[in-house]
Amino acid sequence: MSIKYIFVTGGVISSLGKGLASASIANLLENRNIKIAMLKLDPYLNVDPGTMNPFQHGEVYVTDDGAETDLDLGHYYRFTSSALSSKSNATTGQIYDTVIKKERKGDYLGKTVQVIPHITDEIKKRILDCSKQEKNIKVVFVEIGGTIGDIESLPFLEAIRQFRNERLNDCINIHLTYVPFIKAAKELKTKPTQHSVQMLREIGIIPDIILCRSENILPNELKEKISLFCNVKKECVKDAVDVQDSIYEVPLEFRKQKLDELICDLLNLKCKPINLSKWQKMIDNLKNPKKTIKIAIVGKYISHSDAYKSVFEALFHAATSLNTKIEIVGFESDKIIENKKLIKDVKNFDGYLVPGGFGERGWMGMILTTKYARENKIPFLGICLGMHIMSIEFARNILKLKDANSSEIDVDTKNPIISILEDQKQIEKLGGTMRLGSYPCNLIENSKTFKAYKKKTIHERHRHRFEFNNKYKNDFEDNGIIFSGINKDANLCEIVELKNHPFMIGVQFHPELKSKPLTPHPLFVSLIKAMLNRKKK
Ligand code: GLN
Repeated sequence: MSIKYIFVTGGVISSLGKGLASASIANLLENRNIKIAMLKLDPYLNVDPGTMNPFQHGEVYVTDDGAETDLDLGHYYRFTSSALSSKSNATTGQIYDTVIKKERKGDYLGKTVQVIPHITDEIKKRILDCSKQEKNIKVVFVEIGGTIGDIESLPFLEAIRQFRNERLNDCINIHLTYVPFIKAAKELKTKPTQHSVQMLREIGIIPDIILCRSENILPNELKEKISLFCNVKKECVKDAVDVQDSIYEVPLEFRKQKLDELICDLLNLKCKPINLSKWQKMIDNLKNPKKTIKIAIVGKYISHSDAYKSVFEALFHAATSLNTKIEIVGFESDKIIENKKLIKDVKNFDGYLVPGGFGERGWMGMILTTKYARENKIPFLGICLGMHIMSIEFARNILKLKDANSSEIDVDTKNPIISILEDQKQIEKLGGTMRLGSYPCNLIENSKTFKAYKKKTIHERHRHRFEFNNKYKNDFEDNGIIFSGINKDANLCEIVELKNHPFMIGVQFHPELKSKPLTPHPLFVSLIKAMLNRKKK
């Protein structure tokens, strides 16, 4: 049977949750034993989001093969088990880069290189490449970033129009749109949806399914109206209502409307009956917690709600698995110091987390938070930059190296506890050149980390240029630190753990990228357990 393709576009406004909708539908199809692959096409000119400010773009999701990708891939990871790699995300920048390199090589000799067909051909090639990532892929989801009407996404839309025209029976288009409720008129309005579908049709794309994002379920008459004006069967107009408690309810909401069956029918897909009992159980746990805890995340990009997306989700997964409701309070690390001391608001949490980041702003806030967690024996997890901070705080306050620093912050520091990776020294270009992707790490038995993972070798994903400086290793060990995880190939300290503390761990990698609601990450689970223990006492 030929591979099927589902194109997902968005209309009216951005931030409707196309990634979440795609991931949720994929979740349902996967549950029906259909092997899926996911592709996000992003219209911006950056080759990848790696060089963008987190305040602009939110989190950069890193894959095992070291691609810096859009945060929607995080949704794909959490909702499905599809392969995710550099083949799962393409940007306009990447597409043009490839085409221009080919032109310079002479691959198009004699021809004028144009958007159609050269750019669109490259886009179509990316879609096919994604479908070949693994064997037996039956359905490929292709989510087009941006909103219909944007100039930037036109080549992508033209490419999927052509792609479908070449495979008439193997493609469907799902259009996610917005149906606003106008308070003054007490009415839901379908006109923006009609206009956005009109725009799609001008480009030559007719949606098969319209998903209506709105506060409430649309009354029948409105679905009929959308069906009439948008040329879509009434049973193909579905609701995408705001969920109550958690994004993980979205697949269940779609299932209630039998969206999975509709898609299987439209694409003529053979599939097994659905069984969502495990997922439902997870939602039940989430809605009926037996305990509550409170964690503070002290980071550099807290005011952008998506900058630490995977960290938030990993905390929710771990807490849910322990029947616990977790309240997460974010603090911008440069706004929490008064008279050189930590402000009161940051104190009295059951746990602390310092996540990743770049550059000096907010540095002292994170150091003071770490000191507070260490001295008061409050569970603490430091991720990447957070591991650097934990090491420097220890060096300054326990080893009494007052000028201990990271060479990221002070190139001339006398005590570079954290220094640039050897193979980073020659690098001139900033894009895509960090230590990226999955690396093995050996755990020291009897460490807290080993107890969490329960295995000797782990694989975690990285995104950094700086690392722990082995020159200081003995000093640290003599004063109560265990380096519980080592990358043997490069002799890198990947995990720092404080001995006489219930849970104080810093990791060079990003464990948050590998947590799923049904398989929460062991480090996060251990962190939550330590927080619960502390609270009990
Ligand atoms: N800025 C640090 C480095 O480049 C940490 C990076 C991170 O937190 N992802 O090594």
